[in-house]
Amino acid sequence: MKKIGILGGMSAASTRIYYREMCRLTRESLGGLHSPELLIRSLDFERIEKLQAASDWDAAGLLLSAEAAALERGGADILILATNTMHKVADQIVEGVSIPFLHIADATAAAILERGFRRPGLMATTFTMEQTFYIDRLVESGLSPIIPNSDDRAETHRIIYSELCLDVVTEESRTIYEAIAQRLVHDGCDCLILGCTEIGMLLNQNNVAVPVFDTTLIHCEAALKAALNEHTSSS
Ligand code: GLU
Repeated sequence: MKKIGILGGMSAASTRIYYREMCRLTRESLGGLHSPELLIRSLDFERIEKLQAASDWDAAGLLLSAEAAALERGGADILILATNTMHKVADQIVEGVSIPFLHIADATAAAILERGFRRPGLMATTFTMEQTFYIDRLVESGLSPIIPNSDDRAETHRIIYSELCLDVVTEESRTIYEAIAQRLVHDGCDCLILGCTEIGMLLNQNNVAVPVFDTTLIHCEAALKAALNEHTSSS
């Protein structure tokens, strides 16, 4: 089994989900006492969030690419970045390492296309929903994503940073998210991307009317497949 390097802490709440899910998937896949070979670098999210808020993406890219290189030096064979938003600086990260980097949007697009959907709704941070780095990648894969209206985007973003990243899960916010997802269904999406690694704390296949693609789970599955040498996709 190859060693998976996880660049995480963005937020710590979602990195815990990555760890839990990778352990579960490995157990299910290999049985016995198997668990994944992981190197987890969990960063202080306050530091990252300040760079995001200041739009200092160059500094964020430098920081993440240095940490990615450290994971490679530490023995990682495969690299994943456990956040959708920070894939904004994916190119900088890829430049600094020689191990395969599994891009979360590529893994998600592949999972959607494999099931025959084309028009995903996208719930994520405003960075991910409104900038081009993520949407364009989905479009290049052959998808036609749709995003929530501007009030719903702001509300989705607020709940991520003021609750989910702090491990706060409320029924009130779940209801708000369900309504936002429902409006996307009304707008014509044929499936929904949980395009932020914490959104699975509130939404899943049980409370959304269209097929749900949770980027965290898809990313974990892709990383594990690569670690076990099946379908290694990298960019
Ligand atoms: N984990 C989130 C994401 O998937 C948001 C936090 C961050 O900005 O990294 O986009």
